[in-house]
Amino acid sequence: MKSIEQLLNHPNVQFTPFSDGLPVDNPATGDIIAYVKHSSTQEITHQIEQAQSAQREWASKTALERADILWEWYRLLKENKENLARIMTMEQGKSITESRGEIDYAAGFIRWYAEEARRIDGDILTSLKNTQKLMVIKQPVGVTAAITPWNFPASMITRKAAPALAAGCAMIVKPASQTPLSAYAQAVLAYEAGIPPELFAIVCGNAQEISNTFTQTPIIRKISFTGSTDVGIKIYGSSANQIKKISLELGGNAPCIVFDDADMDKAVQGVMQSKFRNGGQTCVCSNRVYVQAGIYDEFCRRITEETSRLKLGNGLDEDTQIGPLIDKKAIVKVEEHISDALNKGARCLTGGKRSSLGSTFFEPTVLSHMTSNMRIAREETFGPVCPLFRFETESEVITQANDTEYGLASYLFTEDTARQWRVSEALEYGMVGINTGLISNEVAPFGGIKMSGLGREGGKYGIEEYLELKYLCSDIG
Ligand code: NAP
Repeated sequence: MKSIEQLLNHPNVQFTPFSDGLPVDNPATGDIIAYVKHSSTQEITHQIEQAQSAQREWASKTALERADILWEWYRLLKENKENLARIMTMEQGKSITESRGEIDYAAGFIRWYAEEARRIDGDILTSLKNTQKLMVIKQPVGVTAAITPWNFPASMITRKAAPALAAGCAMIVKPASQTPLSAYAQAVLAYEAGIPPELFAIVCGNAQEISNTFTQTPIIRKISFTGSTDVGIKIYGSSANQIKKISLELGGNAPCIVFDDADMDKAVQGVMQSKFRNGGQTCVCSNRVYVQAGIYDEFCRRITEETSRLKLGNGLDEDTQIGPLIDKKAIVKVEEHISDALNKGARCLTGGKRSSLGSTFFEPTVLSHMTSNMRIAREETFGPVCPLFRFETESEVITQANDTEYGLASYLFTEDTARQWRVSEALEYGMVGINTGLISNEVAPFGGIKMSGLGREGGKYGIEEYLELKYLCSDIG
């Protein structure tokens, strides 16, 4: 296993300041961990040109050769899991247990797409004439770019880069400024595995400038973005004049519905997992928990009991379950959502305030008596706040659950199989968790509808985003 220093042994990372660089700090302590280089527009343009020639060479390899290199990258991630997880916790704050889980999740995409690289099959179509053969082949789209968020610093990169590389594309990644170190550490291992640095590059700097460089160059044919809906809209708009392929994994406002007939233990566990993972800072976190009237009071009691037991702390401590939020801005948003709810009649059952641990720590919170006129009903809180809404009927709750511009993840808890189908089909979301709060894995298509995005990542569907169809019509008469 490599040391943290070896994993960060990349020319764009230093433990002393660059003249024009970006400090990366630990949100739990405020300490600076390392510095990353800001790449100029000129440097990035040069990298894009280099990626173009590297991509041609990479695409000319056999699928098996590409797959073998991806397997080696996967193996190196697993071998270095512990220190990759430590880097992630240091720059992002999540608990070390969750960081280890994320490295497994990130590596899972590489393994999956190493397997899929060998199954990029075309079709032979039934011809209209005996003298014609009609075929469809799939080819890599070419040079691609990714812009990723801070909440999943490793897996949001491999979920894009692994299918891109498997398909024969090049990829330039711009990670979030708050968590670039995980990106560089993964790149160091990619190069060791045999992926050329020109083919898979990490760049940091001014987000808007980099994004403009990506969207305006004709060389980049596809952009995959994960982050907020507001930024997604801008990237979508500025990619239009080049008609680029685009994938957008954006914000959510996940409803979680608990019916009277739910298995109470399973529902409590599912809500806790879907709400408090990563301190509530995931796009698939339950943002609104609807509980049917018959079990509402008991459910409030059980969730409050579980929430008040959560251990808040520095993510590097083994017993920490919830780390700090990413920054002070995130704390302010959580406070604003809570005070808006309290002013409109909500009750705070536990938490509700900043923790004495430090300026980025917030106590895990439960709010009851939530109503649809509160900000939390419409906006992603992105923090450790579990808001409990009471409902009476199935049709009422479906209307409320769908009453949002977002459509990423949703959850429901019921033991009634017919209701599971009925409600799943009625929910206007890209993903539905049924009696579970954990739905993400490399096998399934991850993504949303409405303002939550375009396209899917993961599974057999994810690689299609990096492929173009070409139709061949051959006259053999
Ligand atoms: P964000 O502000 O949109 O940032 C995401 C990325 O976009 C970062 O790399 C950021 O760079 C960059 N960026 C910022 N402004 C930009 C601009 N004007 N043009 C181009 N790029 C720009 O989002 P975030 O706060 O990091 O992440 C939280 C959001 O991501 C939430 O809404 C969450 O739901 C969503 N998310 C969605 C998924 C999904 O799969 N659907 C997964 C995870 C997160 P800098 O860091 O340098 O500013």
